[in-house]
Amino acid sequence: VEHYLFTIKNKAHLNAFLEVYDKEALDRAQEIDHKIAQGKQGRLAGMVIGLKDVLCYQDHRLQAGSKILDGFVSQFTATAVQRLIDEDAIIIGRQNCDEFAMGSSNENSAFGPVLNDADTTRVPGGSSGGSAVAVQAGMCLASIGSDTGGSVRQPAAFCGIIGLKPTYSRISRYGLIAYASSFDTIGILATSIEDTALLLEIMSGKDDFDSTVSHTEVPPYSQKLSISNKLKVAYIRETIDSEGIQESIRNGILKKIDFLKSEGHQVEAVDLPLLDYLLPTYYILITAESSSNLSRYDGVKYGFRSPQSNTLEHMYKYTRTQGFGEEVKRRIMLGTFVLSASYYDAYYTKAQKVRRIIKEKTDELLAMYDFVILPTTPSTAFRIGEHTANPLEMYLADLFTVQANVVGIPAISIPNGYDENGLPIGLQVMTNYFGEERLLAFSKYLM
Ligand code: GLN
Repeated sequence: VEHYLFTIKNKAHLNAFLEVYDKEALDRAQEIDHKIAQGKQGRLAGMVIGLKDVLCYQDHRLQAGSKILDGFVSQFTATAVQRLIDEDAIIIGRQNCDEFAMGSSNENSAFGPVLNDADTTRVPGGSSGGSAVAVQAGMCLASIGSDTGGSVRQPAAFCGIIGLKPTYSRISRYGLIAYASSFDTIGILATSIEDTALLLEIMSGKDDFDSTVSHTEVPPYSQKLSISNKLKVAYIRETIDSEGIQESIRNGILKKIDFLKSEGHQVEAVDLPLLDYLLPTYYILITAESSSNLSRYDGVKYGFRSPQSNTLEHMYKYTRTQGFGEEVKRRIMLGTFVLSASYYDAYYTKAQKVRRIIKEKTDELLAMYDFVILPTTPSTAFRIGEHTANPLEMYLADLFTVQANVVGIPAISIPNGYDENGLPIGLQVMTNYFGEERLLAFSKYLM
């Protein structure tokens, strides 16, 4: 704990943490030391973990990187976090992120951007940027983030670490601030597959507080991390042919394809004709769901209330105008528009139908192959401010990550070398529902 606290202080300029629980973490460490002396420690004894600012931790502040939750304190602990604590993990602090997890660069936080430790003029990716940088820079052993459209995998790729988004419903969402409920998953950022597997194993499984969580049995992920048979692996042709992909990223994938072939696995190119529909479907549905989820922040129940409020209507209006940042407001407006009576069928219903088709096509693909490999991102970490003027350009950073959330399947980003500027490259692997066990084993094999 002392080591991590020292690094957090030393690297404060990266802006990865919003709050550090120094005294609490040191006390916990001592308590766990006693347990170890008696041989009564949990399975995560001494593992130092950071939490993205979207996970409830009782009696601790929580803001989702937003001004609108100023002063809010959690009244309970998220199930996933509680399970870590029960196994003697040490929670070291609350990590900066894009406001309400909306973003791909961590420039949308009310607390300023997070800087990438590989090059501080560049973004760490988002929305779990603080969580990724904290692991990248050695400020904690692992972080718990959230992934609605890539927010764990994309920053993991930009920071050269591992980012796992499990199957939708694998981990209880109780105590996770809702962004787009049918997409949201809790995810893990770490540097080893073993740590990732162990954390997944402990956080997964049924929970009385989340009716959507899966009751599918939780395998001992951390104990089965080897590949024993020959595999069928697909890669998406567009990811190799498309002009929009940075050359070093493409070369990294080609190298892995060669490696797999040389090991006797069957590797084939497949077409994914729906690639063009992924981002529009994702952005219509998540803005719809988030406009509804964020309607609860009205100045009455949580955090900030505008001091200029003298009527009820003014209270709502000024609180939301002053409390939310630009990107969040943009999405609430878009979501409200696509859900409005005259446009509902043209946008929302249509996007739901396309979501179903994307799911069916992906199911067909995953029935034929064990894994699909593709880039995590079209480019490596971009410069701070590079895409802020054009939100559509920013949304392109999510091109390859949203599919797993639209469909609900597990996906992981693992480090795959560096580009010509020394920036980390991520490689993404997707597999079928509840295939985390083989996904982790395959990732270890590829690393
Ligand atoms: N960048 C995507 C978005 O802004 C993904 C966010 C996320 O996964 N939380 O919606």
